[in-house]
Order: sequence, then structure tokens, then C-alpha cells
Amino acid sequence: MNIYVDNAATTRMSDAAVAAMMPYMQSVYGNPSSLHTAGQEAAEALVTAREEMAALLGCEPREIIFTSGGSEADNQAIVSAARIGQRKGKKHIISSAFEHHAVLHTLKKLEKEGFEVTLLEVGSVGTVTAAQVAEAIREDTCLVTIMYANNEIGSVMPIAEIGAVCREKGVLFHTDAVQAAGHLAIDVKAQNIDMLSLSAHKFHGPKGVGALYVRKGILLTNLIEGGAQERGKRAGTENVPAIVGMAAAFKEACGLREQNAAYLTALRDKLIAGLSAIPHSVLNGDPENRLPGNVHFCFEGIEGESLLLLLDAKGICASSGSACTSGSLEPSHVLLAIGRPHEIAHGSLRLSLCPENTEEQVDYMLKAIPEVVAYLRGMSPVWRDMVEGRKEFIIK
Ligand SMILES: *Cc1c(COP(=O)(O)O)cnc(C)c1O
Repeated sequence: MNIYVDNAATTRMSDAAVAAMMPYMQSVYGNPSSLHTAGQEAAEALVTAREEMAALLGCEPREIIFTSGGSEADNQAIVSAARIGQRKGKKHIISSAFEHHAVLHTLKKLEKEGFEVTLLEVGSVGTVTAAQVAEAIREDTCLVTIMYANNEIGSVMPIAEIGAVCREKGVLFHTDAVQAAGHLAIDVKAQNIDMLSLSAHKFHGPKGVGALYVRKGILLTNLIEGGAQERGKRAGTENVPAIVGMAAAFKEACGLREQNAAYLTALRDKLIAGLSAIPHSVLNGDPENRLPGNVHFCFEGIEGESLLLLLDAKGICASSGSACTSGSLEPSHVLLAIGRPHEIAHGSLRLSLCPENTEEQVDYMLKAIPEVVAYLRGMSPVWRDMVEGRKEFIIK
């Protein structure tokens, strides 16, 4: 059995995305900035891709900037909002403790420049409320950046409510929607979103391409200087095949969104029910407002890395949830943010599903995972101490 359940890390490209890209590698390969026919054909493909992305997000084509992925989109959105704020003497930014590092590290950089950052607490289920945001907004707040859905534990935030609060208070609102795009409903106007980041490889498109929606009138700061591509806001010859592939993948994902969500939710809930039966285990993230394909557990007395290696040997490609740099023994900042102690945070497992996963695979995992957990616990001196009463269990 070969089971890929790490779709929050990246996905297999869909046939539609691959097919859409092929002509733009060898037939229509001109530079979209060139005036000749070959270039203009490529430029037309960009126009179409931009129109398609805009229609699916509920915005205008000129409000879409193509980027190299979610990280770049996050960086550009946050730095731009900071510069706008700075010019008005507003240097306070609100975010949450469990954002992606593309957001958190950008905020750290701004802090060194004198910005003040408030990271909202996310509570034990891992969520941010609109009331928390409303309470944190100050006279000098220039940006609220809160992710739509968490990439590790799958919690989905009340983005429309947060957007409404920000709009009412006149504060820019950015959301990292990398885990949400293609999986959850997005309508940037209805949800009062000013800026939104997405990344193609999280919805079965190619890697190294993404988009930033920026409401018109918001002045972007360039991260990359050079030519006049992307209305002068993002220099560099456009990755035409990837952009076309992203639009095709996004169209497909949005078209099948409700159907896929229903299918994934059923598989997800079966996995959650089955894994909850493992003694001294706990589900992480919001049980209700949760990404359709996300399952995330902590198992007491287990090292996440050993679990992943043994599961890999059984054909299961999963994740501990944190894409931490290899060799780093730092536990996930997300699990620490929801209050899991270090020793529990190390024993985590994320299964992130896609529509290619089957019920048969779920059944296989529900047999394999409890076996591997029991095997690892059987070898652990710490586990023995707990079983024999010399040490307290943390997860009851
Ligand atoms: C994957 C991910 C990113 C980074 O996107 P890249 O395209 O890989 O740069 C940012 N935010 C979240 C929530 C993600 O899951």
C-alpha cells in the first residue's frame, strides 16, 4: 500500500493543471513582455489566467499579483501594509501566535525596525475570534494579518467576521489563505478581505507559483526590483506555464470544492474517531471549524519522528505537522500556542487528505497507526514509568 497523506505540505499536480501547462513550455514560450506574436500569445495566457483567478476570488483581474508562492505573497502583503502604516505614523500590527513562519518571520523583521506586534492567543482549540481582534485594534494599528486556516492543526478562522471588524475600524486586513484556497469558500469582497495570499501547490497546481489579491487603491511595496511586470510591483519574467497551471488547478478545485469537502470530511471523521480510541491521545485543532482533510493528533509517550519513519516503512507518507527544519528539535510553535507541553508536542501526527485518498487507505491507516504507536510505547522507558505509576500521564 502506498498512501500519501501529506497534502498540507504539497499536493500531486492534477491532470488538468499538467495539461494546461504543456503548451506553454514548448509551443507558446514567448516572453509576455515581447511585442511580437510569440510574446503576445504568452501575454494573452496571463490575461486569461488572471481573469480566471479573479473571478474565482470575487475580485477584479487587476487586483491579482502573481508571485513565486505563498511565502512571497505573505511577505509582500505584510511589508506593503507596514510601509503604508509607517507613512501615517502607524506602526502596530496584529497577528496570531500560530501563523505560518512566512508571516511570523516577516513580523519579526518589522519588529527590529520598530514596529510593535501583538500576537493574539489562540486558546486550546486554536482559533482567533473577531472580538479578540476588535479588542486589540488601536489608533496606531496599520494591519491585521490572520490566517484563514491553520496548516498544522486545520482550524478555520472566522475570516468574514474578522474582516468586518477591520473594515469598520479602517484597518487593513490580510489573510494567509494558503490552506484555504481551493478548499474553503472565498469571496474577498463579501468577506471584507483587503489582501489574500494563496499558493498553487496546495491545491494540486505547480510548485513555485502563487498569487496575492490586493484590493485596488492599496499601494504595494516591491520586494523584487527590475522590469515592469505585474504593474511594476513584482519584477521578473512571469512563469507563464506555472501561472496557467495554477489557474487551471484553482478552477478545478473551486468547481469540485463542495463535493470534495463532503468526501474528505467523511474520511477525516472516520480517522478522527478511530485514532481517538488510542489511549492517551488527543485531537488538536477545532473539532468543528476544521479543514475537511485535516487530522492532527498528539500521542503521549511517542517521538513524532520515529512514528513517521515507521509509518513510512508501512507505505504511509505523513507528517508531524510542523515543516521544521530537519535536525531542529524545536517543537511546533503551533502546538505550543494551543498549550501542549513540549513532551506532548513532540509526539504529533498530521494526516492531510486529498480526494485521491480512499476509504480502503483509511482502514489500512486505522490498523497501522495504533500498531506503530503501541510498538513505540512498548520500547519507551518514559512510557513504562507512566504505566507503572512513577510518572503522571499528561493526556488523560
Ligand atoms: C505552504 C504554506 C505557505 C507557504 O507557501 P509556499 O508556496 O510554499 O511558499 C504559507 N502559509 C501557509 C499557511 C502554508 O500552508
